Formats: sequence, structure tokens, C-alpha cells
Amino acid sequence: MREGRPEKRLFQAPRGTRDVLPVEQDYWRYVEETAQRIAQLHGYRRIDTPAFEETPLFLRSVGEGTDIVEKEMYSFQDRGGVSLTLRPEGTAPVCRAYLEHGMHNLPQPVKLYYLASIFRYDRPQAGRYRQHEQFGWEALGSDAPALDAEVIQMSWELYQLLGLKGLTLQLNSIGCAQCRPAYVEELRRFYEGKARHLCRDCQSRLLRNPLRLLDCKRDQALAAAAPASFQHLCPDCASHFQHVQSYLHLLELPYNLDHRLVRGLDYYTRTVFEVQPADLGAQSTLGGGGRYDDLIQQLGGPPTPAIGFATGIQRIILNLKKQGVPIPPQEGPRVFLAYLGEEAQQLSLRLAAQLRREGIAVASAFGNRSLKAQLRQAHALGAPYAAIIGEDEVRAGTVTLRHMATGEQRSLTFEQAVKDIKGNH
Ligand code: AMP
Repeated sequence: MREGRPEKRLFQAPRGTRDVLPVEQDYWRYVEETAQRIAQLHGYRRIDTPAFEETPLFLRSVGEGTDIVEKEMYSFQDRGGVSLTLRPEGTAPVCRAYLEHGMHNLPQPVKLYYLASIFRYDRPQAGRYRQHEQFGWEALGSDAPALDAEVIQMSWELYQLLGLKGLTLQLNSIGCAQCRPAYVEELRRFYEGKARHLCRDCQSRLLRNPLRLLDCKRDQALAAAAPASFQHLCPDCASHFQHVQSYLHLLELPYNLDHRLVRGLDYYTRTVFEVQPADLGAQSTLGGGGRYDDLIQQLGGPPTPAIGFATGIQRIILNLKKQGVPIPPQEGPRVFLAYLGEEAQQLSLRLAAQLRREGIAVASAFGNRSLKAQLRQAHALGAPYAAIIGEDEVRAGTVTLRHMATGEQRSLTFEQAVKDIKGNH
């Protein structure tokens, strides 16, 4: 670069991030609308929290020994010297808001859903990005096993309603603060003699967080033979898990017990679950969740059992595309306004405003293009009608309404044209 001259280059979206272009938006709208409908049907209300929080919120909730906290957080000091972190997950901010706004004083459970950008400094690959969007629901203030069943059922229902096939539901219970330590000790004993067979990450997990050994993708064979948490539950957790399962049977939800399912965040207790597509890859999990009965207390609140679920929108879309699920397209313009000449353009602007006031989507030509070119554009946009204003129409105060599919044309007054287009809506 020569001094004094700025380097000229085309900027690109940062590594691990993606633009969602208009051609993709039908998928996004479809997923978001379906998820919101499910949430609302189950009595959830939307909550939006800031894109960043004070860093200690995540240290205390997600857990210091987790991949997210150790390797993946986007943390920075702001100009006031406060350590902030771009949200690496959605649950802790919702719990923070629940406490901050005194929602523990409302009738429980409080049911909240969110649609939020999540930031993790991950190794980018298909289905794994540094910014992704999650849809999640959280039910706070109840430990009823029927609530677990409802949350699992609505999460499963979401994928069914979206039209995804061949999914599996994995279920586990990882116990509570009473029974988990003894189980973790048992797990440590199981792995200790086998440490040299473990990958390097797992060797360090063995010391810091043995539960995470179970979901290592490289050491699956060992994990399959490891002791199962659901066989080491205290009586309360065992009874809770029993009830959850009986409700799932009642709801006819097919699930697999999977003792390797522990999830990557420290705050989980008791029920955990995940939904996976049929073709398992490293980036397979579509969504997951579980109970976090101690989290709100850990954040300084009263004892408040809770359960939640989150799913990645990009992952859902990846699977919708893979399975060729048809997506309803966004409705295009109903009518395309074509004109020839300055006076016609003025009338066309007025007609467009009139049509839009009637709730009719309008596209129009701009500039001085031939009628043929304008009609080509109308065709490309898929507009069923073109409303043409040329010199003759200007003189007569009319508009020529062309039915694009048949080519049939009629000369109408503005009012008749609006009525016609609206009537055939
Ligand atoms: P988690 O909070 O890790 O349980 O993630 C919940 C869901 O978010 C996962 O099941 C994925 O669908 C999605 N997800 C997690 N991490 C990523 C990522 N890096 N890129 C895209 N989607 C992700």
C-alpha cells in the first residue's frame, strides 16, 4: 500500500458469520412463525434481552470449566472498563431478567420465549457459526414433571409442524446436587484406569468435569460402557424422572434413554433432552434443553426450579433443505405498475399509493424503460396483473389492466381497476 492512499479492498462478513439474503428469508419467516405459534399455543410470552451482558453472569451460570466459557466467549472491556460478553446462550440472560424484574412474584411458572443472536468463537463449519440465531423457551418457577413433559412435547412438536422427518428424541436425567457427586465419582473411577485411551481434551476433563467425558465425539465407545446417571439417582430425582417418562408415554412421544447425554453447560439438573436428525454428523443436534433447578438461586434469587429448550435456526434450515421440505413463499406483488412518459408516471405513483392503502402489494417500474422490458419485469416478479398507463390512458383517464397469465387486457377507470384487483385478491 502506498503511503497516503487507503488500501482498497472489498470487505467480507467476518469469519463464521453469514448474511441472510432475501432468497433465504422464506425459510427464516417460516421457522420463526412456526416457532412463535407453538410458543403462543403453550402460553409463552416473548422476552428480548440485550445482545451483551456483564461477563460474570455467564461465568457463574454456564460454568468456568465449560467449552463456552473457556474458549468461545466474545468478551471485551467497554470504554468504562466493564467486562461484557456477547450472549453465548439464551438461558442465563432470561434468568437475570426474571430476577431483575421481580417475575418470581408472578403466578408460576412464568413462561417466556426468545429469538436471539448467539455468539460463540467456534471453529466455523457447515451448521456451526460464530453468530447463530436461537429460538428458545423457558418455564420458570415449577419443578412439576408434567412441565418437563410439556416442554419436551412442544419442542418435539415444533419440528413435526415444520415438516422434518426421521428425528430422534434423546432423554436422560443427570440428577441433582444431592445425587450427582456420587455418580460423578463413580464415573471418574470408571475412566481413571482408561485415561490413556482418552483424547487429550478428555484427559483434562477427567480432572475438571468428568460428566463431559460422556459426550465427547471421539470417545463414544468408552462412553457407551460408562455407568448411567439415571441409574444413580436419589429417590426424589428417580421419582421425578419416572413421572416425566410416564407423561411422555401418555403423550405418545417416542424417546430413547441416552446416558451419554449431559449437555455442554454446567447449570443443568435432572431432565436433559436433545432432538437429533436421522443422519448423525458432528453438527447434528437440532435443539436441546433441560432443567436448571439451581441456576436462579446461583444468580442470587430464591430457589426457583425451571426448565428450558433452545434450537438453532440455521440448523433447522439446513435440515429443511436437506429433506426438501416445501416452504410457503412470501406473497409477491399483486400488481405491477408500468408506465410510459412523465405524466403517466405521476398517475402511476398515485395509483400505487391508492392500491397500497387498500392493502394490495404493488411493484412498479422506475426509469424510462420500454413497455416490453417493464412487462418482463412484471413477469419475473410473478405479479398476476400489470396496470399499464401510456399516453392514451393519460388522455382518457384510464388504466389498462393486463392479466399476465392470459394476456387479456381491459381498459378501466382507476376506481374500477382497484376494485377489480382487490376483488380477485
Ligand atoms: P446449545 O446452546 O449448545 O445447546 O445449542 C442449542 C442449539 O443451537 C443447538 O442444538 C444447535 O441447533 C444450535 N447451535 C449451537 N451452536 C451453534 C453454532 N455454533 N452454529 C449454529 N448453530 C448452533
